[in-house]
Amino acid sequence: MSPSIDPVQTSPQLPAATSVVIIGAGIIGLTAALTLAERGIPVVVVEKGRIAGEQSSRNLGWVRKTSRHADDIPLALAADRLWAQMPERVGADVGYRQAGIMFIARNEAQMNMHANWLKSVEHLNLDTRLLSSREIAAKVPGGQGNWVGGIFTQSDARAEPTQASSAIAKAAMAKGVVIVENCAVRTLVTSAGKVSGVLTERGEIRCDQVLLAGGLWSRRFLGNHGVDLPTLPLTCSVLRTEPMEGPTEIAVGAPDFSFRKHKDGGFIITQRGKLDAFLTLDHLLLGRRYLPQLKAQRDFLKISLGKYFLDDLSLARRWKAGAVSPFEKVRVQDPAANQTLNDDALRNLRAAWPVFEQARIAQAWAGTIDVTPDSNPVIGRVAAIPGLTLATGFSGHGFGTSPAAGHLAADLVSGDTPIIDPAPYRFERLA
Ligand SMILES: Cc1cc2nc3c(=O)[nH]c(=O)nc-3n(C[C@H](O)[C@H](O)[C@H](O)COP(=O)(O)OP(=O)(O)OC[C@H]3O[C@@H](n4cnc5c(N)ncnc54)[C@H](O)[C@@H]3O)c2cc1C
Repeated sequence: MSPSIDPVQTSPQLPAATSVVIIGAGIIGLTAALTLAERGIPVVVVEKGRIAGEQSSRNLGWVRKTSRHADDIPLALAADRLWAQMPERVGADVGYRQAGIMFIARNEAQMNMHANWLKSVEHLNLDTRLLSSREIAAKVPGGQGNWVGGIFTQSDARAEPTQASSAIAKAAMAKGVVIVENCAVRTLVTSAGKVSGVLTERGEIRCDQVLLAGGLWSRRFLGNHGVDLPTLPLTCSVLRTEPMEGPTEIAVGAPDFSFRKHKDGGFIITQRGKLDAFLTLDHLLLGRRYLPQLKAQRDFLKISLGKYFLDDLSLARRWKAGAVSPFEKVRVQDPAANQTLNDDALRNLRAAWPVFEQARIAQAWAGTIDVTPDSNPVIGRVAAIPGLTLATGFSGHGFGTSPAAGHLAADLVSGDTPIIDPAPYRFERLA
């Protein structure tokens, strides 16, 4: 089960018409909706399950520039500004705390990776710096790990995924956005060669533009319209502890664990060195496009063939407008947490910071992320379907950039000056 999000009273009615339909009430759809509503543009957000039921409630809540691709950093810097303004904008705390993020290295190879990354972003003048093992011990006391060094960005932050999603949804609704839950969009409706609406399981909504922010499901949705979005699913397991005394407010990522303070006083922990790759037909179809990543990160993926292959095969890849779609069959993607990975993470963390011996597990969950071949999202229009814009494929790091990513998507939809140069996120780059 995912972490529970503060209840949001959404609309029981499906409007007949609007200007913009957003498919998906994850953090990206919600931030885009908020931005459009602030410009006075009528928006309906249609969600097959519940607000932030998938990735957007399950993530770790890290808001970072550290280790991002240089092309992705302008978006992260814009997001920092927007996160800082968010409490005032939505009239609620979203858990945003600029407590810093640190990655630590066990060997020279890992340290070189951090140093090389820092070199690659030198021109961006970030507040990132390399740390010695002594500086790590001073910032995160009580450790017993043998770190050769680390990298630290004081302006990196955390926010609370469930709190933020719910607060942004409520603020968007207060500004006129209609959110409809438990309602899948089955297909786009087009007329005269452009988008003119969406067909949902409860009927049609006429609109001028559609923003697809469907996370994991965007590939299947687009595939039904003959558009190939080459994303693959990977699953990450997480645990949260009961409230406890911890060593630091800083979020710390080691090669085989990470932790960050949670708003309730506990810690969010994960096995940073491993993700589950449950094979699906898409892994076989797209695998070749991911070979460079696979070679570089072979040890990082735990590849297995099992139940998910058949579950995925049982979902249609093509369906007619009036037919039940795969999105109604899986209201909320809720993979089981991998206890072995969670146990690993906690054991590794306890060895490094023994204060975590007192950690008691309050909850465990997993979430499935949607990865693109270059690990950057797609935020852009689809030339083949005028009126359709994508904001998807956030590759496991879209929560941190979400206020800016949703803003950029809204800019493209409304024709406003983009908040940053959208070129790195064009859909065509993946063609
Ligand atoms: C375990 C885990 C840890 C992570 N940690 C971090 C982190 O620390 N920092 C960070 O920046 N990022 C992190 N991420 C990634 C981050 O959570 C995602 O990039 C981000 O939430 C993506 O938001 P989204 O709105 O695109 O997708 P989602 O939250 O998945 O939302 C998409 C929504 O679209 C809905 N939908 C899809 N198709 C349809 C349809 N046809 N009709 C109606 N509704 C539809 C789905 O039901 C879903 O609710 C993590 C992810 C996971 C799983």
